[in-house]
Amino acid sequence: MTRARMPRPHEVAIARSDSRLLAAIEERRSDEAWRTRGACRSVDPETFFPAPNEPSEGAVALCGTCDVKGPCLAWALQVGDCHGVWGGTTPRERRAMLVAWRERVKPNGEAVDDDSDEEERRLLTLMPLTR
Ligand code: SF4
Repeated sequence: MTRARMPRPHEVAIARSDSRLLAAIEERRSDEAWRTRGACRSVDPETFFPAPNEPSEGAVALCGTCDVKGPCLAWALQVGDCHGVWGGTTPRERRAMLVAWRERVKPNGEAVDDDSDEEERRLLTLMPLTR
């Protein structure tokens, strides 16, 4: 078994603006029943779990036609699944996306930005009035 390497900084930088990641963040709570609507339902699951030396283009291409690739990728990133093809991404791509995902989404699925607002409000209440 080979051990996956950590994503490099430039890979994470690219992942941060990847449209698939941005869609996953946006759609992460849009369809709780996404599994029932996946384009892969009638395909051999093995197609989505190719061995490291096998091509994954077929699975990625099928994901490209899928209506629920946003929630699907969001699920894989939320649980930290780095095996197989999910939401049109390969495990290698997702390792970099995972870093970017965790910068934006908390473990409970809420946006990290929600924290910023809360922190901002907290700091405002602590600020001394200057006049
Ligand atoms: S995005 Fe791909 S893996 Fe996810 S449900 Fe659709 S076809 Fe299946």
